[in-house]
Amino acid sequence: MKTEILAIVDELKRLREEGIEAVSVSEDALASLRKAAIRQQGEAADSTPEANEETAGMAAFSLGEPESKPAPAKPKPKPVAAAKPNDLPAFVKPIPEPEPFTLPEGDKQARWDWLKDKVLNDPVCREHIVKGQHVVLGVGNLDADIFFCGEAPGKDEALQGEPFVGAAGQLLNKIIGAMGLQREQVYIGNIMNWRPEHDKPTGNRKPVAVEMAYCLPHLQAQIEIVRPRVIVALGGTAVDGLFGFGEGKGMTRKRGQWRDYAGIPTILTFHPSYLLHQQVNRVKRQVWEDMLAVMEKVDMPISEKQRGYFA
Ligand code: URA
Repeated sequence: MKTEILAIVDELKRLREEGIEAVSVSEDALASLRKAAIRQQGEAADSTPEANEETAGMAAFSLGEPESKPAPAKPKPKPVAAAKPNDLPAFVKPIPEPEPFTLPEGDKQARWDWLKDKVLNDPVCREHIVKGQHVVLGVGNLDADIFFCGEAPGKDEALQGEPFVGAAGQLLNKIIGAMGLQREQVYIGNIMNWRPEHDKPTGNRKPVAVEMAYCLPHLQAQIEIVRPRVIVALGGTAVDGLFGFGEGKGMTRKRGQWRDYAGIPTILTFHPSYLLHQQVNRVKRQVWEDMLAVMEKVDMPISEKQRGYFA
């Protein structure tokens, strides 16, 4: 159970870092979490300081006051000086500053092929992937009007070498389909070209600024090649990567806003993996309204049926 709780805490923390300030949880799920948290407190005597911290974090974020008195606690070990949230974790090899580069002359396909070869063989990107997994560049139509920008490859993406092919990707495909498009008609990229290494058995780690900074020129080059009419920044990390670390905080307030990225209108919206955890139509509707705004921006026809989704 401890692993599941830590996975939930991890995901909640990731969402909080993304700027998500609230999640909806069913009564049943809440009751199971309460029970698990109370059981966990009972087990606290033989758990690691890290696990204690994680569980306490979860209580603060989502559970409020515990319902029963915690078991008498052993004196807490002194916390080790905590790493700042944006520090590269100790288990990750150092990352240098990115080397600026210029795309070669040529048509879009030739420039993209050159970039793909460069990124997939980049020694820093390669150094940070797990054996059997891949460096991942964006995919899609090089003439696309719409460029979706996510965070980083997850496990499925790193295994297949393509962005957004896991559960969040399936949902993104559905969103694209609801817009009347196919995945092949848009471009889909990420801030990161590799899956940030993780010391936990489950979940994904949000990239830190130095990781995002290394990959940013690769994303910029993709945007330069595609020259989309609109960028959709999916989630707080995409916003951090495009507009600067910290800009992705407060997504509940910021979603739906338009920004300018290198002269391209860019809408901020929630990440599909956040939507996967939402049972309420209100949040789905918010994302859908952002997509309607994108469709209007690129002069796509919108039917009455489309306007009414999740209303
Ligand atoms: N989440 C992302 O942000 N990007 C992916 O490619 C997959 C999941």
